[in-house]
Amino acid sequence: MKTKFIFITGGVLSSLGKGLAAASIGALLEARGLKVTFQKLDPYINVDPGTMNPFQHGEVFVTDDGAETDLDLGHYERYTSAELGQKNNYTSGRIYNSVIKKERQGEYLGGTVQVIPHITDEIKQAILQLEGDADIAIVEIGGTVGDIEGLPFLEAIRQLRGDLGRENTLYIHVTYVPYIKAAGEVKTKPTQHSVKELRSIGIQPDILLCRTETTLSQEIKSKIALFCDVKEDRVISAIDVDCIYEVPLRFHNEGLDDRIIEALHMWTRAPVLSQWKELMLKINDPQHRVRIAMVGKYVNLKEAYKSLNEALFHGGVANRSEVEIDFLNSEELTGNLLIERLSRCNGILIPGGFGTRGILGKIEAIQYAREHKVPFLGICLGMQLAVIEFARHVAGITEADSTEFTPSAKEPVIYLMKEWFDYRKNRIETRDETSELGGTMRLGAYPCRLKEDTIARRAYGVDEIFERHRHRYEFNNAYRDVLEENGLVYSGFSPDGELVEIIELKEHPWFLGCQFHPEFKSRPLCPHPLFVSFIHAALNNKLRDNSI
Ligand code: GLN
Repeated sequence: MKTKFIFITGGVLSSLGKGLAAASIGALLEARGLKVTFQKLDPYINVDPGTMNPFQHGEVFVTDDGAETDLDLGHYERYTSAELGQKNNYTSGRIYNSVIKKERQGEYLGGTVQVIPHITDEIKQAILQLEGDADIAIVEIGGTVGDIEGLPFLEAIRQLRGDLGRENTLYIHVTYVPYIKAAGEVKTKPTQHSVKELRSIGIQPDILLCRTETTLSQEIKSKIALFCDVKEDRVISAIDVDCIYEVPLRFHNEGLDDRIIEALHMWTRAPVLSQWKELMLKINDPQHRVRIAMVGKYVNLKEAYKSLNEALFHGGVANRSEVEIDFLNSEELTGNLLIERLSRCNGILIPGGFGTRGILGKIEAIQYAREHKVPFLGICLGMQLAVIEFARHVAGITEADSTEFTPSAKEPVIYLMKEWFDYRKNRIETRDETSELGGTMRLGAYPCRLKEDTIARRAYGVDEIFERHRHRYEFNNAYRDVLEENGLVYSGFSPDGELVEIIELKEHPWFLGCQFHPEFKSRPLCPHPLFVSFIHAALNNKLRDNSI
């Protein structure tokens, strides 16, 4: 199989939804029976986004193999069945890092190491690793054409057309065609300029995806085609939609997948889009509505909890329900104000997080959920806090804490485990207080065995699951018995029984905390069982308490 490459660039401005466009193209190609894979090339200098503040850059997405990646990989996985990992996300930092390492090791034999060819060759090598992985590899270049830092990536993909051949490469440029109210018309000039910029570095786009508010008229398409030297039927309107899962169908209606196949000299079956159509029918016709309180730190920025928002949405669709998320900032809201807001919600969710800020408010929210029998889902930090809350208020261990917040905690119910068997790496891992930063997290997909007759086992319907982790701290087994005696249920363990992966409560309709992040594996066409079950419980709670 010879892999063909689609390169996606963006012009005019950022936030045009290049990632969603790439993912949607993947969905359409998959619907035609092709195997697809993806790669995101990010021009920033961080070696990976693991250390970046989600406030600035959005969520850090985690893959099965434990890569901490850009959130666009989340879109790619949600829209297709592609399984992505380390080699599907590169940053400038990672590329430079590897070139500099080689230079230090004398691999360049005394040569002068330069952006062209050394950095560009390194980029090409990174891209070409995808050869053989799929029929089509969709490679998205982060940033906007014209940014200085993106230039080496653009130069690399320019060269690849020569290396791989015209019929094996395709350049898609995502651009913007604004509607100018005062003039009462859409304007093509920004697109013309952006394409001019792209051509000045030697890339002639084959297809233009024009983000607009309304479908472009034939006249406008002709104009863009003429000025940008792109065939008229390859100027595609990418109009704003209410729901992101509509994009593949919209693109198909514009003929995008036909044009791609044609340009790449391929032949495939017609796309089977029934699943996407059924999904949209369900989304557009909800029968219920629930309100979920999300108590977190980065609640001001939806991008920071991208996968989580999507997973809740998927869980809602599976229950034919709309899900309204009430974002509660636990740094600002505590006490009565918090309780008042929580009392208007049908379910409570505490997402993952790091550090001490906002912890108290989250514990208050958990206590409320436990005492008032409100469905509760605690993810990673959310589970750890649920254990602390239970230890303090039910088991009477008033000083229960995590060593993340109080390094000298007297009752460290959550702590850094000194030694444990790592199933992914297949070896014993060790860590101590000095291994706090970077590299020491439990990252990626780990097996978890479920206990019979628990919420988790019922939701998943299987005995063993693989879920993705991203954390340092763990449940402290020294407290296992005392908490169990008080009514805490352990429903998921690592296969050796050493790591507590899921906790539940006995006397509660739906209370579950998991050490992993289920949201990373939820897809619109395959909603995650825990979210389906959680939203179901929230709906039941709403029926029970119809005052809300
Ligand atoms: N800060 C916690 C830990 O490192 C939880 C991390 C998370 O929620 N992803 O263990």
